[in-house]
Amino acid sequence: MNEKKVKIVKRDTPGALDLAKKTVFLDFIKGLSITLRYNLSRSITIRYPDEEKWIPYPRFRGAHTLNRDEEGRELCVACELCVKACPTNCITVVPMEDDTGKGIADRVAKVWEVDLARCFFCGYCEDACPTTAVRLGRDYELACFELDKARKTKEELLKPQSVPEDFEGGIIVQAKLQRTKSGIKVKPNLWKKKEKK
Ligand code: SF4
Ligand code: SF4
Repeated sequence: MNEKKVKIVKRDTPGALDLAKKTVFLDFIKGLSITLRYNLSRSITIRYPDEEKWIPYPRFRGAHTLNRDEEGRELCVACELCVKACPTNCITVVPMEDDTGKGIADRVAKVWEVDLARCFFCGYCEDACPTTAVRLGRDYELACFELDKARKTKEELLKPQSVPEDFEGGIIVQAKLQRTKSGIKVKPNLWKKKEKK
């Protein structure tokens, strides 16, 4: 018969420092000091969506955007690598030949669609793209009244987003709430930063 070996773990006896900490309730006082610090600090309430809006940092992963080069040519060469990389199969790309110069190559996307209702913003499509054509931007008001409005077409994605790629972000700015038939939008005024009170 196999004998089971039982390992006995010895507990360290509390040292003088531990005893002193317990006697003066040091951990309790530490906890209270954090609560007190937050009570006395400046309020961080944002009047969103009516008057103010948080502009995320550039690394934020919001709605997709399709990029062009400096000459305005589409960067997407319809290679479909983003489609293969997407774990939720929410991107559709249909390639076509085009020698009119609207793209950087003779192959462009006839259809480039993403279903934002299925996307979980992992950024794999962005990582897989060899031409930096697709990027996850900083638009995050994605709620819509009808599900088919969550499908974004190439024409919509080629339009510039409300926050340019080179804008630093990480700030709260003044904004205006706009209600449209397809949903709501909160238009930021990037140059009007929230004033500190
Ligand atoms: S962010 Fe992720 S889930 Fe969304 S389209 Fe890209 S690869 Fe797919
Ligand atoms: S967005 Fe990038 S990865 Fe996707 S089809 Fe276009 S070039 Fe290829």
